[in-house]
Amino acid sequence: MIGGHKQTATHIYQTENSDTSEITYKIDPSETFNVIRKMRSDQVDFIASYHSHPATEAYPSPTDIREAGDLELIYVICSLRDKNVPRIRAFKIAESRSVQELQVEIGGVLSR
Ligand SMILES: [Zn+2]
Repeated sequence: MIGGHKQTATHIYQTENSDTSEITYKIDPSETFNVIRKMRSDQVDFIASYHSHPATEAYPSPTDIREAGDLELIYVICSLRDKNVPRIRAFKIAESRSVQELQVEIGGVLSR
């Protein structure tokens, strides 16, 4: 889970994948609650969630699109398909399930 303001990420909160799977992921609701509480004390908003795709491209899978529940949230996906060159992309997923890609800047540098 990623905290920050508007579209600027400043804090990363690691969570466990309660699915213990390489294909799907789920965050335990109590862990989500704890992170939200920590974000509040850090004075940041919950602006994005992130997960990795160990073997596929950094693009929302059909499951990611189906389960995207928050229209305001940014979904960050890191592809590790090429382990030497991790690829990070970010998306918003509309109620119509259309996927909009956002530009990602890391430390002011555009990610490719
Ligand atoms: Zn995914």
